[in-house]
Amino acid sequence: MNKKKYYLLPLGCAQNISDAERVSTVLEENRFVITSDESEADLICVIACSVRQSAIDRIYGRSKIWGKYKKKSLKILSGCVLPKDRKKMEEIFDVVFGIESLEELPSLIALSSVIPADSTLRLTARRVETGIQSSNGKRLDPRCGEDDKKNYFNYLSIQPKHGNTFQALVPISNGCNNFCSYCAVPYTRGREVSRSFDEIVNEVKDLVKNGYKEITLLGQNVNSYGNDIKGGKSFLDLLEELDKIPGKFWIRFISNHPKDFPNELIENLPKLEKVTPYIHLPLQSGSTKILKGMNRKYTRKDYLTLVEKIRKNIPDVAIGTDTIVGFPGETEKDFEKSIEVFEKSKFDMAYIAQYSPRQGTVSARMKDDISKEIKKQRDKKLNEVLKKTALENNKKYVGKEVEVLVEKEYKGFLWGRTGTYKLVKIDKGPSFVKKSGEIIGRFIKIKIKSATPWTLSGSLLTANSK
Ligand code: SF4
Repeated sequence: MNKKKYYLLPLGCAQNISDAERVSTVLEENRFVITSDESEADLICVIACSVRQSAIDRIYGRSKIWGKYKKKSLKILSGCVLPKDRKKMEEIFDVVFGIESLEELPSLIALSSVIPADSTLRLTARRVETGIQSSNGKRLDPRCGEDDKKNYFNYLSIQPKHGNTFQALVPISNGCNNFCSYCAVPYTRGREVSRSFDEIVNEVKDLVKNGYKEITLLGQNVNSYGNDIKGGKSFLDLLEELDKIPGKFWIRFISNHPKDFPNELIENLPKLEKVTPYIHLPLQSGSTKILKGMNRKYTRKDYLTLVEKIRKNIPDVAIGTDTIVGFPGETEKDFEKSIEVFEKSKFDMAYIAQYSPRQGTVSARMKDDISKEIKKQRDKKLNEVLKKTALENNKKYVGKEVEVLVEKEYKGFLWGRTGTYKLVKIDKGPSFVKKSGEIIGRFIKIKIKSATPWTLSGSLLTANSK
């Protein structure tokens, strides 16, 4: 029997990419093979993102193109969809399902008339209640029973098909309780629920046993891990346990909320050998007034104090951030505060977003009173500050030897990242040209020769780490 082809389009954050990896497993266990050509796909699956309007617009744009293909495909949607977009999405997609119902996907495919029922589909007995995660968060209420949580996380027990053989994304929690006024996540993914401690530890142990070198722990707010489990373990407990796993590997984690970063965590991070010295610490605004409007629950001073503590306690740490420019009511004076925090924090990298309202969120009811032009100018100005601090930070690497995990070969160079998440362009040297394949996915030592704001360049010293 011919295998059916599927095309997968994860949009947005790493959590969606991780969910897509589990969708791949289910489809491939059911005789689907992946294709990069949408037009020949029997099934198109989108993992949606509602954080930015651009991701939703992209779905609308693609759907017009799908309609022009000769081959009719089954369109499936999961991920984050706001209630106000849902109706339109149901017109585009044949199946809309909450990711926690992933194990039911084969049944849903079998029910469609686009792909005829196939005896090889592993149908599950239980009929699924289709639908994106409810906006009231009922199933994800932190007060829900342990059984409910277990059911919710069942889909995580599906072995993901990781993007490569050495880097793995491991979700440790899902959802968010913070309700930042501009953000759709609490309405699409529901309230924060922490995954079982033992399950995470076992998954990481397995990954390390299978040769994975970089484990990235995922959550909308990783550092509040465990807050929903009475008497449960904290994020630091989890890191300490993972750090004990024997073997050479790195642990990364994204993303953190500044209000959930206790001193105890900062003081203990340097003691953890496998945890990399890179902290992603979303700022969002340098103005306390704007932070209040964003419902971020910290002030400009709190943020700066936190950065100072992190830099003081974690040697050679790199810090990245997320920031929004042009939030409703952001005056020139407010924006200058963001510039000031950027200068003082000396960020290594930053994702700067020009504010756009997401319907259904609190800030969407505020007047979007900053023009596109001003948002663009502010974005550019912040980028200039970032460029300076990132270059200053990167220059400190010149002449030093650093450890890099090699990720790929591209345009005649090897590319990898340091523990501090710096992108490194590696001149292979003639003796290594033929061995590139063997080096990808391994730790190597690099002598850094030059630096730009976004990359370090160097040549290979040794490739002896396994
Ligand atoms: S912390 Fe704020 S921005 Fe992050 S997912 Fe939660 S509500 Fe959204």
